[in-house]
Amino acid sequence: GAYVEDKAGAAIEVVYPATGEVIAVVHEATAAVVDRALASAKRAQAEWAAVKPVERARILRRAADIIRARGDDLARLETLDTGKPIQETVVADWPSGADSLEWFAGLAPTVTGETVPLGRDFVYTIREPLGVCVGIGAWNYPSQIACWKAAPALALGNAMVFKPSEVTPLGALMLAEILVEAGLPAGLFNVVQGRGAVGASLVTDARVAKVSLTGSVPTGRKVYAAADGVKNVTMELGGKSPLVVFDDASVEDAVGAAMLGNFYSAGQVCSNGTRVFVQKGIKERFLARLAERTAGIVLGDPLDAATQMGPLVSAVQLEKVLGYIATAKAEGARLVSGGGRAAPNTGFYVQPTVFADVTDAMTIAREEVFGPVMAVLDFETEEEVVARANDTEFGLAAGVFTADLTRAHRVIAKLEAGTCWINAYNLTPVEGPFGGSKMSGVGRENGRAAVEHYTQVKSVYVGMGPVDAPY
Ligand code: NAD
Repeated sequence: GAYVEDKAGAAIEVVYPATGEVIAVVHEATAAVVDRALASAKRAQAEWAAVKPVERARILRRAADIIRARGDDLARLETLDTGKPIQETVVADWPSGADSLEWFAGLAPTVTGETVPLGRDFVYTIREPLGVCVGIGAWNYPSQIACWKAAPALALGNAMVFKPSEVTPLGALMLAEILVEAGLPAGLFNVVQGRGAVGASLVTDARVAKVSLTGSVPTGRKVYAAADGVKNVTMELGGKSPLVVFDDASVEDAVGAAMLGNFYSAGQVCSNGTRVFVQKGIKERFLARLAERTAGIVLGDPLDAATQMGPLVSAVQLEKVLGYIATAKAEGARLVSGGGRAAPNTGFYVQPTVFADVTDAMTIAREEVFGPVMAVLDFETEEEVVARANDTEFGLAAGVFTADLTRAHRVIAKLEAGTCWINAYNLTPVEGPFGGSKMSGVGRENGRAAVEHYTQVKSVYVGMGPVDAPY
């Protein structure tokens, strides 16, 4: 419920990606701070579980209202933390978090058990909170990830200790302030800062009932293995998702979706459709229009309302993405747009980049780039594209563009992905479950599906008559 000052841990500098300037410093939580956060969460959760769902909901709704009232300030902070353009952060990041708080507030009072008649006796079930949940965030959607995890956890009677990414540590702190202002009792939402080791220390603590991670597949593997004493794990991991465009699709819509699914947030979105499969009949028209629209993207200062694409989040990410672009060129992909650093100012900018004639074996068709780099592949038949789209360890998302709705549903049914779109891309409303199959994840966030991941069922047998013992 209050800031705890402890500077014993290593300092972590928060850098504004558009200029490279240090804008804040946070300190890594020491073991004592982590222990204090978990202990206070444990204490607070016991009381919170006894609060009526409508009362919990009222607090979360108030938090959503505060977020909306402070929309511009919060968007500005999110932009400073991540480098995303303000025109995105005003509509996407915190607003999506507010939706999540509001929606789970509405859902919580409707979560009930069941009664199962057994003749004379009966069984009833109660959906109980899990206890103390740990949330660990990636750097690309710091406030949204914190809200997407905290909202179902708190609405359903749990406490949460949240560790944001060390790259973007500010959004979660704001959420903590907002929840306190909304009246959330102290201890129910605690933020600890730090790198992977702090996350790892949370995962293995015996007081923790659940871990929800958003991050990369390698981190997911480590957390899953470390969480062997924890019963409930949700993982939202990486992807290399296919976006399949058939000949009969609207080229304009498909180009727009491919751009949204590769260039929004400078391409740093887990569910991006980074393998764009275009059927041969429209390939040239698609590429021509894509090149034309891509050339018009306005890069610049993310705080300027006219800017459509900002920098990457960090110098590390910049080097990584430039490395993938160099590899794509070396492996023979045809550069259609971009392909290098951009310099509207001193930050970590990369041009929106499109490669055509990409083959399935190329590195940019197999690995997650996490930057504004689109790979366009061509295909001839439906059967062929389904097999190629599924030829990956990932299974986060997939999209299909076609005017033939029978085909759309048939193809979607065969694609191995947890979150899919037909004639749309990357829309993730809180009402719809979100998550991945194969290596891209375990469990789902958002939607009613989240109830499964933040509650457990208690089954109670009620004997109504004499006990029939044989001795
Ligand atoms: P990352 O895996 O490097 O880090 C994620 C978080 O895990 C960070 O907070 C980090 O400090 C922490 N961490 C690292 N090692 C840990 C350990 N051993 N134990 C516990 N915690 C540990 O990922 P990132 O670079 O921050 O984010 C980018 C990745 O996240 C991409 O792969 C992207 O696809 C994925 N992502 C997925 C989703 C989704 O919903 N599926 C959303 C956003 C990002």
